[in-house]
Amino acid sequence: MTGRNTGELLLRVDDLHVSYGRVEAVRGVNLSVGAGQIVSVIGANGAGKSTLLAAVMGALPSRGTVEYGGRALRHVPLESRVAAGMTLVPERRELFGAMTVEDNLRLGAYTRRGAGDLDGVYARFPRLRERRTQHAGTLSGGEQQMLAIGRALMARPRLLLLDEPSLGLAPLIVREILRIVAELRASGVTVLIVEQNARAALAISDYGYVLEGGQVSAEGPASRLADDPAVVASYLGG
Ligand code: ATP
Repeated sequence: MTGRNTGELLLRVDDLHVSYGRVEAVRGVNLSVGAGQIVSVIGANGAGKSTLLAAVMGALPSRGTVEYGGRALRHVPLESRVAAGMTLVPERRELFGAMTVEDNLRLGAYTRRGAGDLDGVYARFPRLRERRTQHAGTLSGGEQQMLAIGRALMARPRLLLLDEPSLGLAPLIVREILRIVAELRASGVTVLIVEQNARAALAISDYGYVLEGGQVSAEGPASRLADDPAVVASYLGG
């Protein structure tokens, strides 16, 4: 296979299978994420993207291998994965709507030792600082996504797993959120992002995978994937 994702790997997934009862949603996925990379998994509704991320995080049982920093995670529970620097920002964002922005952020630090990087998060998201006493439930969709990412960053993760950060957001806000994700790479955070918004995700990624019916149907450096006629026809509206 050409263009395989190599270099120092932070995450390696090998022959991963995830089932809901008799339905197999992820069917033998191999993927890798190099340290310091942004890697995107694109695919249609129901392709298995959220399932893949949840299994990597240890929130769903799976078969196959997940290695993080060279260590097999088979018997490692979700809390220990968080303690080791993995954090998932779920599609539903899961904020506490009746709590303030700042209290939501402080909860992010609670999942890992230490007080968390509140100043760092506010520096990255000045909008959250302005709104720190506002209830999370009254934020706009884009602000809620910033808060969900900010909360994840409180734990100073090494690997950030992002589930459809663009969901339900206007194009301008999507661009702002993804610009911030691109900046995270510069500060040493590695990102695995699943997105239906393929064009926007590939634009900030080093490498990409296309997931179809629970299997990887194409992969390559993000710029090459974005030029692949089959990918363009199916996922880039071209
Ligand atoms: P979307 O973008 O719509 O969230 P996705 O690519 O993230 O799609 P998944 O949510 O991972 O896809 O779903 C993959 C398949 O697994 C789908 O067929 C879905 O119906 C099924 N599935 C997901 N969650 C469950 C569940 N809790 N029970 C049974 N089937 C499920």
